[in-house]
Amino acid sequence: MKLLCTFALLAASSLFGQPEVITILNNKPPMIAQKKLDKAMEYWKHILRLDDVTLEISFKRLDKFDSPVYGESECHPVANACLIHILDPRDYEAFSVKTEAPVISGRKAITRDIENTIVHELVHIRLAKAGLKDLYAGNPRCKTGVCEFIEEDTVVRLTSAILDESRRQLR
Ligand SMILES: [Zn+2]
Repeated sequence: MKLLCTFALLAASSLFGQPEVITILNNKPPMIAQKKLDKAMEYWKHILRLDDVTLEISFKRLDKFDSPVYGESECHPVANACLIHILDPRDYEAFSVKTEAPVISGRKAITRDIENTIVHELVHIRLAKAGLKDLYAGNPRCKTGVCEFIEEDTVVRLTSAILDESRRQLR
């Protein structure tokens, strides 16, 4: 689950920069087509070696999440299938009001953040496939929630490293 982006948003987006699918209306949030979201997910799914997993991705309004997040994923291990929800771009401003998080606004920043959220959720899925949750269940230290914290911190760092490297190669 991606709560707050704790690192700087860097460089140009590799997948969300194409004007034909993103419409800028004055200063309004970008309209991102489902097709573009699917394409970005497919790209990163392959990079993270998750080709064998059935994935679906869609936008979700802020009030439909149980708690305010930029994204979430849930998996069905038997079916080897996961569903990813991404915060609807229209709700970024409301999100920052609700959580007091720094405001992410404008087409570039929001589309970059969405790509970040996609990679973040896919890294969670990658770790889940490695059986991390089973390890938590057998470890008394994890009862304090510290294991989830370590996982989240690891996911944030890996996501940052992956995107930094990807964007560096595009320069
Ligand atoms: Zn997370």
